[in-house]
Amino acid sequence: MGHDHSIEKRRYALSARIAFLAGTIFLFAALFILTAVGVGDATHLIADGFVSLVSWKISSNVEQNHDQEAVIRRRGAYVQATLLVVAAAIIVVETYLHEHEPRSALQMMALGAASTMVALWRFSIVHPEWRRSITGKGEVWHVAIDLGTSVTVAIAGFLLWYFAIPAIDRWAGYAVAAIAVLGAAHLVWTAKQESATERRP
Ligand SMILES: [Zn+2]
Repeated sequence: MGHDHSIEKRRYALSARIAFLAGTIFLFAALFILTAVGVGDATHLIADGFVSLVSWKISSNVEQNHDQEAVIRRRGAYVQATLLVVAAAIIVVETYLHEHEPRSALQMMALGAASTMVALWRFSIVHPEWRRSITGKGEVWHVAIDLGTSVTVAIAGFLLWYFAIPAIDRWAGYAVAAIAVLGAAHLVWTAKQESATERRP
């Protein structure tokens, strides 16, 4: 499996940098708008920064220890899944404790649109890794699921604007946490598939 690890590492490092930076900006914006689902989305994005960092660490470990590639990549997927579950737990607590109604449904839609653009950007960076490794497959799937989280913020803003039911913001917050758990489950599933393939003669 000798492909260029420096390109793989560079993609994950860029993805991590974007996630940390955009996640922090979106968190401040969401706190200003007082949107639970926006805070959830930003929390997820910051966690994504760590997930991409783990992807970077995995490819760097594989580079130094090719014999252990399958094991390193599988264990890495479990670490990433754990990070996502932690993010989901934080989002649930944040959403539960969220007291205020969003300031503006239109601002929520704008935040969701900006977040969706960032998810698309990260997707365009990592998608070439899809065919190359389980780490790439996990990362690409993950960023695809992230799109769902970001779009949820925009949809929640729209529904809030249309129906004027403030609770929509919190319902969407729980939905975003559920999406993170789904992402974690998918990572574990991919890793298990991979180890099943290895055992075949
Ligand atoms: Zn994510």
